[in-house]
Amino acid sequence: MQIDRRGFLRSAAAAVCAPLAAAPTRPPNIVLIYCDDLGYGDFGCYGSKIRTPNIDRMASEGVRFTNFYSANPVCSPSRAALLTGRYPTRVGVPHVLFPNDKTGLPDSETTIAQMLKPKGYKTMCVGKWHLGHLPEFLPTSRGFDEYYGIPYSNDMNPRVLLHATPAGVETVEETATLETLTPRYTEQAVRFIERSKDSPFFLYLPHTYPHIPLGASPRFRGKSPLGLYGDVIEELDWSVGEVLACIKRNGLDGNTLVMLSSDNGPWYQGSPGRLRGRKGMTYEGGVRVPFIARFPGRIPKGITCTGVAATLDVLPTIAQLTGAPLPRNPLDGIDIWPLLTGQRQAIEREALLYFDGWNLQCARWGKWKLHVARYNSMAYNPAPAGGRVNLPLTSPELYDLENDPDESYDVAPENPAIVAEIRGRIERLIPSFPEPVRKAWAATMARQTQPAAVGALPRPAN
Ligand code: MG
Repeated sequence: MQIDRRGFLRSAAAAVCAPLAAAPTRPPNIVLIYCDDLGYGDFGCYGSKIRTPNIDRMASEGVRFTNFYSANPVCSPSRAALLTGRYPTRVGVPHVLFPNDKTGLPDSETTIAQMLKPKGYKTMCVGKWHLGHLPEFLPTSRGFDEYYGIPYSNDMNPRVLLHATPAGVETVEETATLETLTPRYTEQAVRFIERSKDSPFFLYLPHTYPHIPLGASPRFRGKSPLGLYGDVIEELDWSVGEVLACIKRNGLDGNTLVMLSSDNGPWYQGSPGRLRGRKGMTYEGGVRVPFIARFPGRIPKGITCTGVAATLDVLPTIAQLTGAPLPRNPLDGIDIWPLLTGQRQAIEREALLYFDGWNLQCARWGKWKLHVARYNSMAYNPAPAGGRVNLPLTSPELYDLENDPDESYDVAPENPAIVAEIRGRIERLIPSFPEPVRKAWAATMARQTQPAAVGALPRPAN
């Protein structure tokens, strides 16, 4: 075939430009690894003595956040917020779901997977779903092509392990074997990446652990000096290493955003670091969680972000990054790409609200956190006579989280203007929430309480 000079130049230019021209048409792959009940202080790079070399390396190759929040201190609501970018009290999942529940994340909500599907993403969820276990609520009904995992917590019965595809739902195990869960989840995740690498993909990997009852495979069992909990974390670290190695092996490093976080603070074991409180509490230890993101070439290596961010921000950030249109429902999260990339240390935002159930208890605005209400009993303890109720604090407590991350020193008396500012923001935000939130807030504020010591459980006034 004869080709003239002009034709040669044209085809040469096309060959040179083709990769450049094609690149923007393929949005990045998204991998979201989510641990269950993993504390702020449970990874080496967050101060733990548990060995997590793969996670520490991931942090050194990307960004690590120190003021990152789950939107709730327990499992189901946290996941509702992560996948929708909206407070769980807005989307109607304020409490943990159980195997006898008939509900789940309402159809009126759009998940990250549903948002990405029209952009040509292959999608899979591997692990603990916990947003409804009936077929109409499973991941395969919420934008995921495939699901493999226990659909709720591993301390619930029946502890069934499912595999779901558009063709239907099959039971892999009637009672899931706990010891091999993490390696089996990892294998599913790696196989999904391998077979999806030719198109953009979204892998959501919500691990079952370290939620109790714990289980580790023989390779990790008894190996950590910090007991079975340490073994479990070391196996999770191995899993993160396997996923990252798979991404690298397939040449996807430069086009894959990998994120790692947890749904709430540690329960009976595990470490919240120096933060106060644990799972089920709106003290920092219940909701502040690790967050690490890695995207070679896009996120600088080894940076730390101290700005306030939340799982609420994951959906809007992915939307911006992939060009996917935002869901119809108004979002509570914001695009935090400037924080991920170190372009900014903080983004001004509306006060972050801390809910437990339908009840609002605290708000964070900048470095300040105001506690306005608290339950009259500790989480997971027997309820007092008359039941567990949310009570207003006669003296709202203000903490300077920059100088006092463990909420040890109330500075409300010295900062009445800050207290009034945050109170005002709460009062302006409450009317935007559904009726159960508005009613719960009104009921809380109408209750009479006795003056109590700072940090104490409030007591009714009779
Ligand atoms: Mg949890």
